[in-house]
Amino acid sequence: METTANIYNDISEILFTKEQIKAAVEKLGKQITEDYKGLEPVAICILKGASIFFADLIREIDLPLEVEHMAISSYGSATKTSGEVRLLKDLDKSIYGRDVIIIEDIVDTGMTLNYLKKILVGRGANSIKIIALLDKPSRRKVNLEVEYSCFETPDAFVVGYGLDYAEKYRNLPDIGVLKPEIYND
Ligand code: 5GP
Repeated sequence: METTANIYNDISEILFTKEQIKAAVEKLGKQITEDYKGLEPVAICILKGASIFFADLIREIDLPLEVEHMAISSYGSATKTSGEVRLLKDLDKSIYGRDVIIIEDIVDTGMTLNYLKKILVGRGANSIKIIALLDKPSRRKVNLEVEYSCFETPDAFVVGYGLDYAEKYRNLPDIGVLKPEIYND
């Protein structure tokens, strides 16, 4: 690594550099622009992990989209899902009849988004698709379709570019694997 920033000391391996992320986000933005041509989708940012990805991605989408935020909790500060999902912040506006794009940081077991998608289906959206920055398909426990993702990741706990461990490392510009000794203490 060129940087000597301290937060990099806790990372065992960089999986995706900021340059690779930028290129992937630009490509995905073009794809969404093409796929939703003529539509006015509602892009929902799932807080907090997707916030950086969301901010970069929506600026690569050339559509009259609307922005919403939701917060769900499934993790706390642990590195394994509890299966418990709580809605912490709901949408500000109705999505009835709208084309909804859920923008999430990472899909692991899929339980969180499976729960969220069911809620949004129940509110009468015209369509609902999922965009995940990272996808860990080997870990899936439920049958959830992730229509778009930037990168597939191995079964390791990753941080950076919005993803945290105990609220830290979100500001890491790259995405890397957190050293297990950090969370096994
Ligand atoms: P799922 O319900 O798909 O198992 O979990 C989704 C949520 O778990 C993500 O939104 C994220 O908050 C968290 N998560 C899953 N894997 C990782 C990971 O490798 N790193 C981080 N930082 N969070 C993860």
